[in-house]
Amino acid sequence: MSWRLKKKYHDLLAGESGYWKKVWGDQLTICLAYPNVYRTGMSNLGYQTIYRLLNEDPDIVCERVFLPDPGDEVFFSSGSLPLFSIESQRPLRDFDIVAFSLSFENDYPHILTLLEMGGIDPVAANRDMQDPLVVAGGIAVTMNPEPVADFFDFFLLGEAEEVLPECLRVLSEHRKQGRNREACLHALQASVPGVYVPSCYDVRYAKDGPIESFRPRHSEFPQKIIKRWVGNLNAFTTDQAIIAPDMALGNMFLTEVSRGCGRGCRFCAAGYLYRPPRFRRAGMLEASLLKGLEKVNRIGLLGTAVSDHPDLVRICRTILDRGGQVAVGSLRLDQLKGELIGILKEGGIETFSIAPEAGSQRLRDLIRKDIREEQIIEMAHALLEQGIINIRTYFMIGLPTETDDDIQALIDLVEKLSRITVKEGNHETRFRRVTISINQFIPKAATPLQWYPLDRIENARNKIRRIKASFQKQTSLRLQAESPRANYLQSLFSLGDRRVGQMLLACHRQGRNWSRTFKEAPLHPDFWVYRPKPLQEILPWDFIDHGVRKSHLVEEYQKTLEDAP
Ligand code: SF4
Repeated sequence: MSWRLKKKYHDLLAGESGYWKKVWGDQLTICLAYPNVYRTGMSNLGYQTIYRLLNEDPDIVCERVFLPDPGDEVFFSSGSLPLFSIESQRPLRDFDIVAFSLSFENDYPHILTLLEMGGIDPVAANRDMQDPLVVAGGIAVTMNPEPVADFFDFFLLGEAEEVLPECLRVLSEHRKQGRNREACLHALQASVPGVYVPSCYDVRYAKDGPIESFRPRHSEFPQKIIKRWVGNLNAFTTDQAIIAPDMALGNMFLTEVSRGCGRGCRFCAAGYLYRPPRFRRAGMLEASLLKGLEKVNRIGLLGTAVSDHPDLVRICRTILDRGGQVAVGSLRLDQLKGELIGILKEGGIETFSIAPEAGSQRLRDLIRKDIREEQIIEMAHALLEQGIINIRTYFMIGLPTETDDDIQALIDLVEKLSRITVKEGNHETRFRRVTISINQFIPKAATPLQWYPLDRIENARNKIRRIKASFQKQTSLRLQAESPRANYLQSLFSLGDRRVGQMLLACHRQGRNWSRTFKEAPLHPDFWVYRPKPLQEILPWDFIDHGVRKSHLVEEYQKTLEDAP
């Protein structure tokens, strides 16, 4: 069967433009892994950026590997055929390094599957000299790497453009000198800020559960690991390296216009992690936009808060003037002015996405989502006036201190939006489709709400049912909600420590049976998920300096509690 899969990968490559296929010599070889299927991984700009950064270095060969498509796993999991890279079709074990890009915690179980299919022991401590070094970076592990600490030799915490070159220098040096993996990991931990080698730190747990101590094993290792960030975003572009026909985002060229957001919404991991806010100059972006338009006619503008970009209108105009179309994610309501709406509509956007996050003003204030209901209504009018008849709204349930009244306020707000009409002559326009995307609030590390517990699965289900029932008869309203069970797991992987990694491994070995794993775990997962954490407790990620003082997070958390009814 291997010939069929090899042909499939060969055809995949033939349909792409922009990939590198280097001849193997004495370069450092890196297999860049994404723990999900090809079409999902290829739509991740972070993943594509690392692929390009690495391949631009003549001393590095970087190839890609993904989770096999459904139906194909069986060929790799039998052990007869090791998982191989897309470009040269070499097994993972042939590479010096296997590097994972981790953006979403729910992909964590796939890490173990992928390593095992590649013939690499998922547990870092069991690997030897013959095995590649296994590393991970990305927002999920920059927040909290501990739940997957046992599976990686080291992590890169923060923005890769900053930490990667220093790390590669140490790795290449080590390879030239033929030093063993322990010496290499020691050198990385001791000399590269932003590198975290879990085996260089000792964690002890108290009998009743919390962390008792977290200490470096050697005086050369830092007590706190600094998250790295890029000072000058204008020194380089972050855009899509490869155009592939089979991508989740379709035929679109992605380019990053900004990083970070200064608004300080208390729940927002991206807002806290990517500080400080930085914008790419419109002139600087022009080359990237033109490069994209040569390949496709739709440009996706990415960033933590795209609508805060001071030159967004000019950037969109550059695309439109060359006959292209624009796509953006969710937009800040207070930035949606007539001119911007008009220009985005002209750019081909048919559905606008907005994120009020909460239905009641009280809850919006509590999470510091600085938006008033009048602004939401005003924006809805402005959209209809410009002929935008589809709208997507993002709300969260399970926010701290939420009551039945807050859920009712969410329902009322959506109803108000769906009833808004604007008149043009004798003609009345209203939204043809209002999509309500319901996400559960998941406390994230390094945010002011990190001490707060997740809402219980049964509560989340009841709230979703209630919202659904309210809109049952309205055909213009469409509700989408994530599974509360998947949210529970995401929360466990976001807030856990190394003992959660042991659960992940046990579950993997038991054929993904979470119920059995939870029953057999020495400490029930509710300990991490449903327990409000005392402020003095050592949190699993406290050894990382995320760039925001803990006293600020405490202050913001306490204000949240004070603002409760
Ligand atoms: S939710 Fe949006 S506006 Fe608020 S901090 Fe995050 S990115 Fe910024």
